[in-house]
Amino acid sequence: MTSSQKNEEWYERAVRVMPGGQSNLRMPLGVRPLFIESGKGAHLCDVDGNEYIDFMCGAGPGIFGYSNEEYILALKHQLDRLYYLVSGAVQSTLEVEVAEKIVELTPCAEKIRFVLSGTDAVQLAIRLARAYTKRPYFIRFEGHYHGWLDNVLGGVVNDRAVHKPFAIESEQDPVATEGRASGALEESFKIPWNDIEVLEGVLEKYGHEVAMIHMEPILCNGGCCPPRPGYLERVRELCTHYGIVLTFDEVITGFRVSLNSAQGLLGVTPDLATFGKAVAGGVPMGAVAGKKGILDLLLQKRVIGAGTFNGYPYGMAAARVTLSLLEKDGGAHYRKIDTLQGRLMSGLKEICRRLEIPALIQGPRGVFFFQFIDRDVAYSVRDLKDADVAKQNRFRMMLAEEGVLIMWGGRWYISSGLTEADIETTLERVERVLKRL
Ligand code: PLP
Repeated sequence: MTSSQKNEEWYERAVRVMPGGQSNLRMPLGVRPLFIESGKGAHLCDVDGNEYIDFMCGAGPGIFGYSNEEYILALKHQLDRLYYLVSGAVQSTLEVEVAEKIVELTPCAEKIRFVLSGTDAVQLAIRLARAYTKRPYFIRFEGHYHGWLDNVLGGVVNDRAVHKPFAIESEQDPVATEGRASGALEESFKIPWNDIEVLEGVLEKYGHEVAMIHMEPILCNGGCCPPRPGYLERVRELCTHYGIVLTFDEVITGFRVSLNSAQGLLGVTPDLATFGKAVAGGVPMGAVAGKKGILDLLLQKRVIGAGTFNGYPYGMAAARVTLSLLEKDGGAHYRKIDTLQGRLMSGLKEICRRLEIPALIQGPRGVFFFQFIDRDVAYSVRDLKDADVAKQNRFRMMLAEEGVLIMWGGRWYISSGLTEADIETTLERVERVLKRL
């Protein structure tokens, strides 16, 4: 059991001056926030001296764990390149190096534009696709997340839509928000994912009004669901047929699931891809990469993609260091993740089987989903509707008390800061919690 006296004091201080943490969703977090003082490897230490094994990784960016000496030393070597710039008028050699590297590694990337976050990247991709196709709508999917702005945040699928399948507001929506601009949900159609017939039906009616289809190629935000065999290939064909820009949102999967991201792993090449989170190993950085003909709308000034900090040197240096660490020793980073994650996932499965607890455990390299539901595989959030969400919440809270931190909803991120001992300790703690749950 953890002690919490200083945490309470910091909490009192925090609520006086801040409206909650810095990123709020409606998820039932249920535990007081922990006030962390230091991190090393995959361990976080709070103000009361409690240690936690971390599977949150800052919601994705932290692929190397904390205080990774190689990362920090390599960044230090770039110190004299961290000067400031006025984007466009003065460019850094670092930008060019990072752009070249991402273009080399990413199947869809002929050119790349840097931004600051995943949200930025998605908005720029939407603007580019609309300008390129001169069409108004984009298609997005149930359970996917693409940032906090009005036109992509939540809204639920309207199963009764007779005409254009716009999302509708609902109190059941976990990211429902007040203050949204009217009309924002009518910028896009929102439909179930991994259901090719639904998509084909919508395109048959409205395909020539659709600028872009935007999706997480592996549904990390909704159960780490894999695409059904042939689904992405068919979406690719449909986009080519209708002249629609296909965008993969690789904000989670980018450089996490493989050096060539999900598109490399799955062998389907979109027209654009959006990146964020892990690409700079924990430092803010986002990007839109893709076909030259689309990205060059920026060069021609037909599309504006502005931002004081776009391509800022510290983020560029961090991305350069991150990519070289990921490439090092023929991808040793990924081999380490495979070993640790393989042991963790098979250990969790084995414990659940032994304790006769129905559980779904699935996900690609670097991130996985563990939920209380009797299924071997889920292909969409609809497959997860019978999950015991209340049990998952209790599990997460009890696990935190045992010193293991996982994301709300059952997502676990894997960093190379973990050790084999961390995995064994985690499995012991999970078993203890499951026996009491
Ligand atoms: N796209 C995906 C798939 C995401 O998971 C997220 C964030 O979680 C975003 C976009 C938005 O990125 P950011 O939070 O950096 O703005």
